[in-house]
Amino acid sequence: MANILGGGISGLSAAYYLSKAVTSPIALFEATDKIGGWIRSSQQQGFIFESGPRTIRPAGVKGRNTLKLIESIGLSDKVNPICASHAAAKNRMIYVNGNLNLLPSATMDIFKKLPPFSKPLVAAVIHDLTAPRNTQQLEDESIHSFVERRFGKEIAEYAIGSMICGICAGDAKKISVKFLMEDLFRNEQKYGGVFKGMILNSLFGSKDKIEQIDGELINRSIRQQWRIYSLEGGLQRLPDSLCSHVQQTRTEVHFNAACTRINFHPDQVVATINGKEFASKAIISSIPSYKLADLVREQHPKLSQLLEDITYVDVATINMQFDKANLLEIPGFGFLVPPCVNRPILGVIFDSVCFDVKDHTLLTVMMGGNWFEEKFGTNPSEQHLLDVAMKEVKTILKISKVPNKTKVNILRNCIPQYHVGHHKRIKDIRTYIKDNRLPLFLCGAAYDGVGVNDVIYSSKMAVKELLKK
Ligand SMILES: Cc1cc2nc3c(=O)[nH]c(=O)nc-3n(C[C@H](O)[C@H](O)[C@H](O)COP(=O)(O)OP(=O)(O)OC[C@H]3O[C@@H](n4cnc5c(N)ncnc54)[C@H](O)[C@@H]3O)c2cc1C
Repeated sequence: MANILGGGISGLSAAYYLSKAVTSPIALFEATDKIGGWIRSSQQQGFIFESGPRTIRPAGVKGRNTLKLIESIGLSDKVNPICASHAAAKNRMIYVNGNLNLLPSATMDIFKKLPPFSKPLVAAVIHDLTAPRNTQQLEDESIHSFVERRFGKEIAEYAIGSMICGICAGDAKKISVKFLMEDLFRNEQKYGGVFKGMILNSLFGSKDKIEQIDGELINRSIRQQWRIYSLEGGLQRLPDSLCSHVQQTRTEVHFNAACTRINFHPDQVVATINGKEFASKAIISSIPSYKLADLVREQHPKLSQLLEDITYVDVATINMQFDKANLLEIPGFGFLVPPCVNRPILGVIFDSVCFDVKDHTLLTVMMGGNWFEEKFGTNPSEQHLLDVAMKEVKTILKISKVPNKTKVNILRNCIPQYHVGHHKRIKDIRTYIKDNRLPLFLCGAAYDGVGVNDVIYSSKMAVKELLKK
C-alpha cells in the first residue's frame, strides 16, 4: 500500500495511523540502526540524559492527540506529569542584565513591574491598543518585528527573542510570525490591532471547527492541571513502544535502510533502498526536507529546490550531573538567554527539578542553533563545548562544583527554521505535489510545526490525506 521513510516519531506515528485504517502490510525504512530520530534518552548510572526533547505539552488539539496515542499504546501509567503548582511549571526565567529574572506566571503579575521589563506587562496591551494600524497589508513578517510593532521593543527582545531560542534555537528576527502567532497576525491585519482583533473576531469572525479528541488520559491531564509531562525512563519510551506496537500490527520496520532515490511512475512509486527497489502505491516521507530534496532531485528539480530552501540549524546539548542536591538558587524549569544578551548559550534546563530527582542536580545546557557557527566555528571539539557550558553554568548559576558526569551531544541539522515566507513555501510544495499528481505525503518537523505534538499530528493528517486519495 504505502512505504514510510524515516523511523523518527513522525514516521512511527504514520505507521500507527495507517495500520489502524488499512489491512495491507506496511513497510517503514529507517536509515540508522535506531528508532526515534532526535528522541534519544540514555541511562547514565541511573540518571536519564536526554539529548533531544524531554517534555511534551498536553494542551490544545495536538497535545490531546498525543495523549490519545499514548493511551492507546498502553503507556498511560508511564506518564510523569508536571502540574500547575510544580516549581518547573511556575518558574521560568530569562537571563538579562546579569540576573536571572522570573517571567510572570500568575494573571496578577501583568500589573507588576517585573525586571528586566521597565513597565508592567499591561503596558504592552496599551501599546497594542494605541499603536497605529499598519498602512500596508503584509503577507508575512518576522515574529520579532510583529511583536515590536504591537507590544514594544522589550517584549520583542527579551520575551520573544528567548522564547524562539527555546522552541527552535532560532533568531526571532528571521522566524515568521506565523510560526507561533498566525491568528494574532491575521487579526491585526484585518482589524488593525491584536486585542481589537481578538474581541471583534470573537464577536463577528467565523469559528473554526475544533477537532474533538477525548480519552481517560486527556481527562486526567485536565483534572490534574498538567502543564508538561515526560515519560518514566525517558522520552525514548514513546518511539520504542510505538515501534513495538506497529510491528505487532503488520508494519515491517527495516533498520539500516536509507532511501537514496524516489522514482515516480504512472501507477506506482519506487524507493531505492540499499540498491534494491521497493514499489508501492504511495510514499509517506517523514525524513528531513533537505534529505527528501536529494531523493526527488532527478525527476523533480523544482520540488527539490523548494524542499532544500527550508534551512536547518545545529544544536549542542550538554548534560551534566552533579553529586549534590539543591545547587540551584531558584528551582524551576530553567532559563533562556535572549540573543541581545550575546552569550554563548541558548539556555539551561533544570532536569532535576523537572523530574524530581533527589540528592543530585541534573542540568542540560543548550547551545548553538542559529548562532552555532558564529560562536563555535564549523567543527568544535566536544571538550571546547563542554568547557564553554561549564563556564556559563559557573557564571550564571554560581555552580563552581565540577560535574560528576557529563555528555556532549552535537546534533547536526536538527531543527528546521520557519523563516519569513515559510508558509508560502510549504503551500508551493503542496501545490507542486498536487499539480503533478505525485503519490507523496509529507509529515515531520519541516512543514507544520517543530514540536513532538506537531509532528505526530502531521502524520495523522498525512495518512488522512493518503486515505482520501
Ligand atoms: C535539541 C532538541 C530539543 C527538542 N526539545 C523538544 C521538546 O522538549 N519538546 C518537543 O515537543 N519537541 C522538542 N524537539 C523537537 C522534536 O524532537 C522533533 O520535532 C521530533 O523529534 C521530530 O521527529 P521526526 O520524526 O519528524 O524527525 P526525526 O527525529 O528527524 O526523524 C527522521 C528519521 O528519518 C531517518 N532518515 C533520514 N534520512 C533517511 C532516509 N534517506 N531514509 C530513511 N530514513 C531516513 C532519520 O535517521 C531519523 O530517524 C526538540 C528537538 C531538538 C533537536
